[in-house]
Formats: sequence, C-alpha cells, structure tokens
Amino acid sequence: MAERGILTVVSGFSGAGKGTLMKELLRNYDGYALSISATTRSPREGEEHGREYFFLEREAFEELIETDRLLEHARYQDNYYGTPRDYVEEMLEQGFDVILEIEVQGGAQIREKVPDALLIFVTPPSAEELRRRLVSRGTETPEKIRGRLLRAEEEAEYMPLYDAILVNDDLDTCVRELHSLIRNAHMRSSSRAPFISQMKQELKELNQGGY
Ligand code: 5GP
Repeated sequence: MAERGILTVVSGFSGAGKGTLMKELLRNYDGYALSISATTRSPREGEEHGREYFFLEREAFEELIETDRLLEHARYQDNYYGTPRDYVEEMLEQGFDVILEIEVQGGAQIREKVPDALLIFVTPPSAEELRRRLVSRGTETPEKIRGRLLRAEEEAEYMPLYDAILVNDDLDTCVRELHSLIRNAHMRSSSRAPFISQMKQELKELNQGGY
C-alpha cells in the first residue's frame, strides 16, 4: 500500500502568484493532485465547470454543507467556496499529495480538523512588491487594488497559523522550495505511522528470537 499523501494548504495574498506556482509545481513534479473547489461565484471568461471550479447555485452549495460533503468552506467576497471531501480523501488514500489552494479562513478550518496537514503561506518579498504586482496586471482599477491591499492586511493576521511562509521572489526557486517543504513533511513522525509500527514489530521479533 502506498504511503498516505500529505494534505497541503496553499494560501496567500491575491497577487502573490499562487496560481502560477501551482501550475509549475504540477508541471515539474509527479505525485500531486490539485483539489477542485466548489463555488457560487460565476465563471470568468475561459473557466470551465469541473476544471477550475465546480460552479454551483447557492442552493446546491448549501446542500453540500448540510450533507457534510465539504472538508471546509468559507464565504469570500459574497460567495461561497468549499473543498469537496471525497476527492481529497480518495487521492490521499492513493498516496497523492493533495493541494488545496484556499483562502485563510479555510486554512484555519483545516488546521483544526486535520492536525497533520501542512499549511503554506505564499507572499511576495514586500508590501511594495505586492502593490507593484497588482498594478502591473493592468486589469485592476485603483479602487480594486486598494481593496486587495486592505484585505491583504487582514489576511496577514493569519500568517502565524501557517507552518511555513514561502517568499515568492523567483518563481523557479519558489517551486523547488514548495516541493521540498512537502517532501520534508513526509518525514514527520505523523506521516510515518506504518514505518514506526513495522520497526517496533521487527525489534520485538528480533529480541524474542535471539540473535
Ligand atoms: P477566485 O474567485 O479569485 O478564484 O478565488 C478567491 C479566493 O478563494 C482565493 O483566495 C482562493 O484561494 C479561494 N478559494 C478557492 N477555492 C476555495 C475553497 O474551496 N475554500 C476556500 N476556503 N477558499 C477557496
């Protein structure tokens, strides 16, 4: 049986480059599965149901909550977002490291519910760099940029909850660091329960049988 995968939460400020980071992680390394969230927000141009998100009506989303089919969920900017439980469980069981790219309230819920999850917060090197990246997208009005920076200040309150703060300065370096954080998590004793049992059993047999 494959060793169980690590549940990994990736959160970060809007403009930190999480999307590109996830894409590059999956392109460069095997063994990862990206969870597809459910949301009540409308699809943006180019987004597809079942690829970026499961786009649901509010009633359908509430039904998922009531039937306990979400691992976590949160309201963000007047919409619901949540992680379907079954897919995550199945992929972890198969040994995949499952990535949830979710906002900080969801991260806090995972911290509570899944004590051995790995929580990673992605940030640009400075607030000024965050502002610069938001401006250089060219798609945001000054008011929207102000809104995102104000929200970033609130989100920063959650940073101490995370296991690691990953500074996204150079993309390639950041992808390697993310991968290595997850590889290291596989060595934690909480991930090595089967190995620990096996070692204990072998020692017992060795000591009983004489050598
Ligand atoms: P967007 O609407 O821009 O795709 O996403 C808005 C925010 O919702 C992002 O911070 C994204 O990480 C977060 N998000 C996406 N899916 C989920 C989810 O399943 N649960 C939670 N809590 N946040 C999510």
